[in-house]
Amino acid sequence: MITLTEAQSHILGAVGVLEPVVVPIGDALGLVNAVAVTAAESVPPFANSAMDGYAVRAADVEGATDGSPVPLRVVAELPAGRAPTVPVGRGEAIRIMTGAPMPDGADAIVMVEQTRPGDDGNALTGGTVLIGNAAVAGDHVRAAGGDVRPGDVVVEAGVRLRPAHLGVLASVGRAEVTVFPRARVGVLSTGDELVGDGSALAPGQIRDSNRPMLLALLRELGAEALDLGSARDDETVIADAIGAAVDRCDAVITSGGVSVGDYDAVKVVLNRLAPGSMHWWQVAIKPAKPLAFGVVRGVPVFGLPGNPVSSLVSFELFARPALLRMTGHPDVLRSPVRMRAGAALSRRTDGKIHFVRVRVERTPDGPVAVSSGSQFSNALASMAAADGLAVLPDGPGCEPGDVVKVLVLGSE
Ligand code: AMP
Ligand code: MG
Repeated sequence: MITLTEAQSHILGAVGVLEPVVVPIGDALGLVNAVAVTAAESVPPFANSAMDGYAVRAADVEGATDGSPVPLRVVAELPAGRAPTVPVGRGEAIRIMTGAPMPDGADAIVMVEQTRPGDDGNALTGGTVLIGNAAVAGDHVRAAGGDVRPGDVVVEAGVRLRPAHLGVLASVGRAEVTVFPRARVGVLSTGDELVGDGSALAPGQIRDSNRPMLLALLRELGAEALDLGSARDDETVIADAIGAAVDRCDAVITSGGVSVGDYDAVKVVLNRLAPGSMHWWQVAIKPAKPLAFGVVRGVPVFGLPGNPVSSLVSFELFARPALLRMTGHPDVLRSPVRMRAGAALSRRTDGKIHFVRVRVERTPDGPVAVSSGSQFSNALASMAAADGLAVLPDGPGCEPGDVVKVLVLGSE
């Protein structure tokens, strides 16, 4: 047996990072930025009003109060999107809207709520506005470059792009961004017993649950998931399927056929297709002990075990970090969350790390982990009921109230 860490570091060492590509920002959500982006423009591009109100000269309205307001002559109106055509002279104001450029002469904005029309009842162009509050130069003015200045790095390399990053890129006029592409990953089930099309089960047959689950795990990760169907337990069929898959995928995931059974053909085929680089391991974990991994014509192939929970756990522990590495993510391993066990999580001492399906329950004292049901490696219902996997080091397990580490599953 090899340790989890040994298997993970071997795999991470064997996969390369995909070649960056340029994509429209509309297609970049969730991808990792490959090249730091430096702003060539200021944001905002010009000083502008942060409020609907009046652009004034602060010196004109010194000492203004609600009881003794200062009258100013309104010389223009300025909506957002229009350039000022007249300056604000002494004793004057311009009615201004949020986002409109600061007119020459003005150095402050008075909010419309602190003004009222003069005796003429007209606080628009040609009328008089009464300013009921003193202003200080700079009040409610957004400076040019107050958000971003030319030369600022707005998105560092290695950052996973979230909606606000795309907004910032748009704000500096970037329509495209250089990212690590989505990995194209094929999923192939293997097993004579599998039925994948919903038809009636003949004696001895079971439904293919791994393929839709693995395809969904890939989509959740942001990969482009390719359904390669299922292959019979026949070395030629499996070799053809994997051979065709590596020609059009960045990585390939198979399920089944990596144990010590008589019909476990995947490990045999991988050994042939990836001579030298193929490993068939017994990893010191439960579930998901057997794993085959090899690089076929430059493409990593993950031979995950067939038991559905083993397949999922193996994907989580081996395929997911590798795919994150390939797509430029700096952090590829999930950070466990520490919480208390809400009930005993017992296990036997067997030299392995156990990954126990748990629900995370909220309590007034914080979240606690409780078993979500059967821990057999074929029992997918308890996996579906789980929020995460409690990581139990070798030993007798833990008592209620003990602190456990939990890998909370799902997209982060
Ligand atoms: P194997 O790793 O091929 O020996 O399979 C181990 C167990 O997982 C067997 O009980 C298989 O029937 C089951 N199994 C294999 N592939 C799948 C699949 N795609 N969906 C559901 N169960 C599977
Ligand atoms: Mg099988």
